[in-house]
Amino acid sequence: MADYDVIVVGAGNAALSAAVSARVSGASRVLVLEKAPEDRRGGNTHFSGGLLRYTFEDKEQAIALIPDVEKNYPEYRDGIDPYPAKAFREDIMKVTGGRSDPQLSDILINQSYPTVRWMQQMGIAMEPARSSGGEWAADESAIEGVRRGKGVRWQPGCVIRAVGQGKGLSKAWFASAEQKGVEVRYDACALRLTQAESGKVNGVIVREQDGIKALTAKAVVLGSGGFEANTEWRVRYLGGHWGAAKVRGCAFNHGDGLRMALELGALPFGDWRGCHATPISQDAPAYADPFMTDKTNRLSYVYGVMLNLEGKRFLDEGYDVHPMTYALYGGLILGQPEGQAYQIFDAKVVHLLEGRYATEQPVSGDTLQSLFDKIRINKEQALKTIREYNEAAGHGTFVPTKLDGMHTQGLTPPKTNWAQRLDKGPYVAYPVTGGITFTFGGLKINEHAQVIANHWKPLPGLFCCGEAVGGIFHGNYPAGTGLMAGAVFGRIAGASAAKVS
Ligand SMILES: Cc1cc2nc3c(=O)[nH]c(=O)nc-3n(C[C@H](O)[C@H](O)[C@H](O)COP(=O)(O)OP(=O)(O)OC[C@H]3O[C@@H](n4cnc5c(N)ncnc54)[C@H](O)[C@@H]3O)c2cc1C
Repeated sequence: MADYDVIVVGAGNAALSAAVSARVSGASRVLVLEKAPEDRRGGNTHFSGGLLRYTFEDKEQAIALIPDVEKNYPEYRDGIDPYPAKAFREDIMKVTGGRSDPQLSDILINQSYPTVRWMQQMGIAMEPARSSGGEWAADESAIEGVRRGKGVRWQPGCVIRAVGQGKGLSKAWFASAEQKGVEVRYDACALRLTQAESGKVNGVIVREQDGIKALTAKAVVLGSGGFEANTEWRVRYLGGHWGAAKVRGCAFNHGDGLRMALELGALPFGDWRGCHATPISQDAPAYADPFMTDKTNRLSYVYGVMLNLEGKRFLDEGYDVHPMTYALYGGLILGQPEGQAYQIFDAKVVHLLEGRYATEQPVSGDTLQSLFDKIRINKEQALKTIREYNEAAGHGTFVPTKLDGMHTQGLTPPKTNWAQRLDKGPYVAYPVTGGITFTFGGLKINEHAQVIANHWKPLPGLFCCGEAVGGIFHGNYPAGTGLMAGAVFGRIAGASAAKVS
């Protein structure tokens, strides 16, 4: 008899969804292996904003998820818009250039609402995703809304998050797993998968503090994330300049699950050159601080301009709302000289910067000249860039809460929205770099979350979920989708694994 019905590798949102799902689907002995020690448990999930992108056809479906929401957040009903499956599909296909795997993205979209409801039943409480522009919730770190007069406008699809953000989500998942009788071992690093002569995956070799052990199971679920914390793999797959990237989350995701599955002939799938990386403070540590979590993000660039150390713009800051561009722009910053840039704002917009900017004192100057004197930038070029920008900007009316179409004319790169002139001092500069969040390349799975081998048939006994799955994200990513995809495929993987005899 096997030691366990199901062994789950990892202890983030996807893995714990799988473990809980396996238990409630009938598996009686479920083990979670967490590589991290207990006080650093929970993977990237712990560091996340807890935002969940899901479809809802009418507002009631969002309102019903949050107890007393209208009493506690009177602006919620007016501030949100329905987010039908069609809109979610369009957003995913827009940011991935149409390359998101149609089968996986359809499952993600169609299962997003039922899965959010299931998460609630499993003990994950929800609250409104909070805006953080201006005086609204200045201590908050969410990215989803912008204050509009007395109300708040939530970004499409970005209306709920787990109570307590990533920390709360992780804590609630561990509590749920514990309550359902899932065993969790910490400091337990999965090293290899084992196979029966038939080829069925039947266990895991684990390194624990007291030595190496062979554990057997009827099925194994990989929920061990991507390879963003593995410098060597970053350089190998993403490219040289990714070697110096700061890691926005967990320091334990080295692609172990991917390596173990590839060793058995699993099929690599999706965008192995791609990753999620955002503009973060240059002061951020090399690996994220578990207490600070995602507070180093710098996502209000849409209201200003970004200059590299040569004093040049290098991207369209206002191409779209920031939940649609932030995951791409970290990599573009990292590709600049020394992987650094400055976000420059004038006095007209500083009140719009999200609350996270308050974790750092910007450099400021009454004039652009005095500002550029104080930062490490090619001053002449920076002044020329802003002069040319100001000559091209200002076509349209500035509306911070939506794509306002206020654009530049005849400028490369253009600024497509929120292109106000920078002409009112004092001016501020925030030094930023690119921080890697997670990698997009992973394993091919089918609709049951079975891992597919390189002869295009399932590898018996092996399932996968979360960022270890490839094919959903390519090049870019819409905010709030990582946790949603992790829960959707984690739930499926756990239920499928529980059926294996
Ligand atoms: C700062 C930040 C903010 C974010 N905000 C959001 C957000 O608001 N909304 C959203 O949707 N997404 C967000 N994300 C992305 C989101 O966190 C991930 O998509 C999600 O957490 C991935 O879940 P996962 O379970 O696949 O991996 P993880 O949560 O990273 O879990 C991986 C687990 O595997 C373990 N592990 C690794 N190797 C082994 C091994 N060999 N043996 C045993 N265990 C192993 C790790 O220790 C960890 O427990 C954010 C990420 C970061 C870093």
